Amino acid sequence: AALLDLRRSDEQQGLAPLGTSEDRLVAEARDPRALRRALTRGEFTAHFQPIVRLHDDQVVGHEALARWQHPQHGLLTPERFLPAFETGELICALDAAVLEHALNALPRLRATASAPLHVAVNLSARELTAPGAAARVLAALDRHDLPSSCLAVEVTESAMSKPLIRDRELRQLRERGITVLLDDYGTGYANLLALLDTPATGLKLDRSLVSRIASDRRARRLLGRVAAAGRDLGLTTVAEGVEDRSTASLLRELDVDLAQGYFYGRPSAAPRTATTCTTTTPDHPGSS
Ligand code: C2E
Ligand code: MG
Ligand code: MG
Ligand code: MG
Repeated sequence: AALLDLRRSDEQQGLAPLGTSEDRLVAEARDPRALRRALTRGEFTAHFQPIVRLHDDQVVGHEALARWQHPQHGLLTPERFLPAFETGELICALDAAVLEHALNALPRLRATASAPLHVAVNLSARELTAPGAAARVLAALDRHDLPSSCLAVEVTESAMSKPLIRDRELRQLRERGITVLLDDYGTGYANLLALLDTPATGLKLDRSLVSRIASDRRARRLLGRVAAAGRDLGLTTVAEGVEDRSTASLLRELDVDLAQGYFYGRPSAAPRTATTCTTTTPDHPGSS
């Protein structure tokens, strides 16, 4: 009660209300109107993390990851804002904004590499079950005059209510040559029959399993079996969260196709121009 009184008298005197900067950020990141405003102002952007082919260590693509460049609080990662987005339709606008950033950045990313790169975006279950999801993705590719082979979409298995609609949209994307990856595979609701019937072309093995294989022989054997099962079904395998060399070499021995993680590179801003490819800004300066 004393605190409330203090707060009221602060406001009466025209001072800033009590509360730390962290409190204000938490409140803002939970407020759909504030998030929509930030989207309109273009404060959401994408950072890019390299994806490497294990057999020759070539970078073959990048995953686009949403970031909020907040005018007061700096660069924020999805754990701060994604929960509020996911409670409503707003997530579709975020997915679309990140797709736009990804397709914009692709020519600049490609200028930094010798092989043709692809870019992967995360699509929420809500976006994939909103009418016309596949058509929207294909239209974006057309607008940027890019071939469908340069795009991958990552989807997580979730307890969402419309798997049939989602799979129909994903099948449409796959038929047009877009890579479809089941993200965070091995966690959540992924079941064996879903794997058999999936419209996906690949699996991203979850970091929680990948991070254990260097120290845990049973985890290593399990990952090897899951990767082999994926291969048998004709699926590409991608390991996420690779943080050290020993994990990378084990994954290579287990015939996993692609890998992504801090060992290869942290998410960072796209190069500004096609020629200044060394001036990227890491998410965590000085820690790579
Ligand atoms: P994700 O799609 O599984 O992306 C991988 C996450 O793991 C990223 O976190 C990345 O920064 C982090 N990561 C990569 N390598 C390592 C590593 O070696 N060690 C550790 N500890 N972490 C690593 P981030 O960027 O915070 O994104 C978190 C999640 O937010 C993503 O997980 C994805 O599910 C979701 N997300 C990100 N961007 C979007 C978006 O545009 N739309 C939607 N719907 N979801 C998004
Ligand atoms: Mg992903
Ligand atoms: Mg993932
Ligand atoms: Mg993950």
